[in-house]
Amino acid sequence: MVGGVRVRDGAGGEHGGDDEDGGDEAMVMKTTGWWRRFILLFFWGSANDRKKISWVAWDVTLNNRCKGGLGIGSLKAQNIALLTKWWWRYKTEENALWRRVISAIHGEDGKLGQVTTPKGNWSTIASINRSTEKANLSLSSLFSKSLGRGTKTRFWQDVWCDEGSLADRFPRLAALDKDKDCTIADRITETSQGKVFTWEWRRHLRGERDLSDLATVRNLCERIKLGDEDERWNWELETDGIYSVSSLHYALDDMCLGRSGVRTTWNKIVPIKTRILMWRTKLNRIPTKSNLVRRGISLENDFCPLCNSSPETTMHLFVDCDRTKEVRRVLNTWWKIFSVDGSSLDSLLSQTTQSTGVHGDRSKTETLKEVVLHAYLGAIWRNRNETVFNQASFIPSRVANDIQAEAFLWFRYRSNLGCGISWLDWCCTSFLM
Ligand SMILES: [Zn+2]
Repeated sequence: MVGGVRVRDGAGGEHGGDDEDGGDEAMVMKTTGWWRRFILLFFWGSANDRKKISWVAWDVTLNNRCKGGLGIGSLKAQNIALLTKWWWRYKTEENALWRRVISAIHGEDGKLGQVTTPKGNWSTIASINRSTEKANLSLSSLFSKSLGRGTKTRFWQDVWCDEGSLADRFPRLAALDKDKDCTIADRITETSQGKVFTWEWRRHLRGERDLSDLATVRNLCERIKLGDEDERWNWELETDGIYSVSSLHYALDDMCLGRSGVRTTWNKIVPIKTRILMWRTKLNRIPTKSNLVRRGISLENDFCPLCNSSPETTMHLFVDCDRTKEVRRVLNTWWKIFSVDGSSLDSLLSQTTQSTGVHGDRSKTETLKEVVLHAYLGAIWRNRNETVFNQASFIPSRVANDIQAEAFLWFRYRSNLGCGISWLDWCCTSFLM
């Protein structure tokens, strides 16, 4: 019945959780932890007996792309969001058989947000709010109820205004009502002159305490608004008010995962391997010689394998190195989009064609420039590796030709924009204008 894995998180999860239970729940957490480790090792190409450097913190990698991650999402957050969906279903599927079974066992409120006994799947679901609260997200404030006409909400017994049910807060008054299960509509009628209250007491109210309690209840009731529609539950994280697993998953990740500070460039025309290379390069998390030395790897020297004249940093390799500048010079005999003397990776693309575009389409031009920049990055890195590991020669004109051809293949066959473009069109200097 349960979508999602029961969660009792100890150390090692992305989000805090409860740690008071053992037994099968500890085993479940072990499984979640195993999956988490498996994905991490797979991502960085490691194995149990062959450990590789994790170049970017895992909680940054998991985060959304606008926060500088890869948008993988945390397994734990997804699990919590799946379990929370049962709260939504419990609240909205009033006549479902499974819901009637739960309410027969645990009571009408399903003990949501409370500790239930016996322990089991439902107790894990009912107390999932404790996991979200550790991320500063209160489920009780994320689920809100439009009372509508008030025909389905019990005046004394249900929680419909702040701080618990009225029966809990004003037990003397609730006990004096002839009908403990009366609805809001039984007691309040909305008229053009304001609210009209209909009380049915067992006896006349007397004494200061009863009267002051009644005044407080009336004040609370004045704050609510009754409508003409049926009551309904709303999920505050979605504009249509309907619960979605992704909205809570996203909110939890947003609160709990790390940020890199650099928005991830994510161009779907480019193969994912090159997109990840772009992400790592922008974060300066690629194994250049300087980065390896900084992480304690011993090398003969840290000179750039292409020019042998400066330490090989990310900035040097892609921006400052004379050999890669030469590649950009050759590329500029094709499309004049590269700045030969850029001061950063982002500044490599010159702004000269920004006001024009392919057939007047500026966004298409920007997309094309981004595709070529990815191809540039991929080709430089690939050829640099060939030079380091296979002593291949780095020939700028050949690398530039590779970039031109690779960008064409991506644009032609991986996007709708490139449909019908011929190689001759592509090679034309004026194509972008
Ligand atoms: Zn160099």
